[in-house]
Amino acid sequence: MIRRCAECAQPTLLPISRRMQVYSSVIRYKCSNCAAEVDITPMASIGVFTMVGILALSFWGWIVFGGSGAPGYLALSLFGGAGIVFFLVIFSYLAKHFLNPLTSTGGQGHLPEVSDDDHIARKPILFVERLGYFSGMLIPLAVITGILGISALIGYINFTFF
Ligand SMILES: [Zn+2]
Repeated sequence: MIRRCAECAQPTLLPISRRMQVYSSVIRYKCSNCAAEVDITPMASIGVFTMVGILALSFWGWIVFGGSGAPGYLALSLFGGAGIVFFLVIFSYLAKHFLNPLTSTGGQGHLPEVSDDDHIARKPILFVERLGYFSGMLIPLAVITGILGISALIGYINFTFF
């Protein structure tokens, strides 16, 4: 996983460590040419964040705009502000990928191992992070579908047998 350094434009940006954060891991890269350091979030996790944000904003928008009458100024401002913050956060995650692109041969190889392993959701997060951005976007939908399916099944069993 070798990247081109955004600071000195040399293909010398190497992963040196990987840590768990709350909802993803983050990979610390260090340039062996100019010593610049950058933290990069795996694409799949950015995809997950994107979809979770879209779902949350959709639900919020449905509440704001779905009610009777015109939405109030405060509700609109909060909604618009959250949308802008969401866009900026996702953009800042993605920008690090585009500013420090993988070199032509650097795409091969696995993500580095995680040093700390006491994270409660370590395994599912690391599994998801092997995927790409758009596969990551599908994960929240798959989880929601799974939860709804299990709920429906429990309801069906409850209704049918008890
Ligand atoms: Zn550099």
